[in-house]
Amino acid sequence: MIAGPDLQCIFCRGALDKTPRFIVTDKLALGRKIPYRFHRCSLCGSDILAGGVDEGENSKTYEENYMFSMDEKGGRLRKALQKAEWNLFYKRTYLSDARLIEKYMGGRRFRLLDVGCGSGLRVKCFGEYGFDARGIETSHPAVEYAANKLGCDVRLRSLRDCVIARESYDIVTSYAVLEHITDPSVFIADLVKLLKPGGLLLLRVPLAGSFQMRIFAGSHSLYREAPRHVWIPSFKAMTENIEKFGLSLIGHRSEPLLSAASHASLSLFPMAANAIAVKVGLRGVFYRLVGALLAVFPGIPLALADSFRGVGAHTDFVYRKS
Ligand SMILES: [Zn+2]
Repeated sequence: MIAGPDLQCIFCRGALDKTPRFIVTDKLALGRKIPYRFHRCSLCGSDILAGGVDEGENSKTYEENYMFSMDEKGGRLRKALQKAEWNLFYKRTYLSDARLIEKYMGGRRFRLLDVGCGSGLRVKCFGEYGFDARGIETSHPAVEYAANKLGCDVRLRSLRDCVIARESYDIVTSYAVLEHITDPSVFIADLVKLLKPGGLLLLRVPLAGSFQMRIFAGSHSLYREAPRHVWIPSFKAMTENIEKFGLSLIGHRSEPLLSAASHASLSLFPMAANAIAVKVGLRGVFYRLVGALLAVFPGIPLALADSFRGVGAHTDFVYRKS
């Protein structure tokens, strides 16, 4: 069970405010308008999903096509759109992610594990960039796509499996995963166990304090990922008291500009979400075109304002293992 309003923060165990900060509905729940309540933690400032959703129920809310891949069914128009999105958003983001790691590691020839790697497109990019990269993922279709279609070293394993096998890496990354985890402290501690001393941990998380999440508040697409998003961390949660995990913070940044702006566009236009758009035929191509290519413009000034502060709707936190 996820912490109720009278219980504790799932991250720092602080007390949650009694009154919900936002009541949101799942943007992917076409027709099913279940309200989800986010309560702010009085200690770390994160927003915690309350209301007794369990992990088993949560797993049923992931639509097919939740993760972007280049393998979705559809005609030439949809394929062309996918290619445009790949070039405009995903490829640029993954390259930027690789450059950030290179900047902190001072090179490329390192052993890297991406935890919760989805369809493996980032692992493939990291491999092409020069990292010795592999991924783990718990979604069977995603692993199948990554291993068979992309030819990546992506396996159907849990983080626990890797810890038990005493694996060790120079770099461990986890992009947009922590906010799905109901016991994030255990998850971070396990990520650290996989790192060599001096190794690098990179976590990308949605951030409660970013401009765009404050402006859109409960209508922001990353809050409306409830119940899959069980918490939205604060800057304080990601930066204070992290020594207890054996980590030191060495940097943070907003994710690349267009990707950051795309969260604002999905907040304005939720029907453009990939999992919805692929379901509704030709209308979906239109939703995606508007959402990904037009509605992204109003998000750019917000994303720019966030990037100057080094935080964003998604923020990368880079830590070194002591
Ligand atoms: Zn807390």
